[in-house]
Amino acid sequence: MKVMKFGGACLKDKTSFLKVAEIITSEKEETIVVLSAIFNVTDSLLDCLQKVKTNEHEVIIMINKIRKVHLTRAKKAIKNKQILDRTIKSISTKIQKLEGLLYGIVYTKELLDSTKALILSYGERISVLILEGVLLSKGVNARAIESDKIGLITNSSFENATAILPLVKNNLKRTVLPLVKNGTIPIITGYFGCTKDGKVTTLGRNGSDYSAAVIANGASASVLEIWKDVSGFMSADPKVVKSAYKIDTLSYSEAAELSYLGARILHPRTIEPLMNSNIPMFIKNIHDPNNPGTKIFRNGFWKKDIA
Ligand code: ASP
Ligand code: MG
Repeated sequence: MKVMKFGGACLKDKTSFLKVAEIITSEKEETIVVLSAIFNVTDSLLDCLQKVKTNEHEVIIMINKIRKVHLTRAKKAIKNKQILDRTIKSISTKIQKLEGLLYGIVYTKELLDSTKALILSYGERISVLILEGVLLSKGVNARAIESDKIGLITNSSFENATAILPLVKNNLKRTVLPLVKNGTIPIITGYFGCTKDGKVTTLGRNGSDYSAAVIANGASASVLEIWKDVSGFMSADPKVVKSAYKIDTLSYSEAAELSYLGARILHPRTIEPLMNSNIPMFIKNIHDPNNPGTKIFRNGFWKKDIA
């Protein structure tokens, strides 16, 4: 079984949901999908949280913006009218809840860490609904799933939580694996999980890579594919070093080191859950799907190669 994660950069253009759906449907193996928010949506939510305490009008601005972005994408990508109508309804329900949460801050003039995490999770909660609609309208059995409903349990560090891997594994056995066995493609929200008592936590900015690794570990996947808009790790920043080249393979520790040192391609903690279950990871490019990308695995190497 494969876990495929698509980041916000894969959801930049108007037609990108169709592109993502095409990559998913051309996969023969059993698949679990992990999805980020549409490009820029989490940033907008964060920005709104900063302004909303002092300016009530920001709620309406945010809600209109988020509705427009998602409905435009849904209308562009979902061809079946009935499915589109259902998706629009589900999106509207989510947006209504988000609106309520934002007014809560306006009235109470207070923003708890747990409320902030909950609000920031809405980008992913809405994007999975669109991808579900797109796949269903292509006749593919898919189901949007929120990661706090399937037991992606973390500690209570609300803005940068760490997953509790054995608990997640146990929960996925019950909540996700039976769906996959029945031929459904689960489309799981990246970026967040919840504490044991159900409070939403985020895994840190760009945390969907880490979510995907946690889910790959929990589902005992044979491989994790992280889809981006670049072809993998580069030897240097291509904007600075002209001779920079794509690295074909890396070991887990090299990839972790590069991420911690600030190569912004991967959330730094993505490697941990993969390393302890020996799951290989590929970084792949949505605009060049046949490019093998960068493979990261136990016996991968880069520096040894050029020494
Ligand atoms: N949407 C979240 C963020 O922008 C998580 C992610 O994209 O990985 O930080
Ligand atoms: Mg993002």
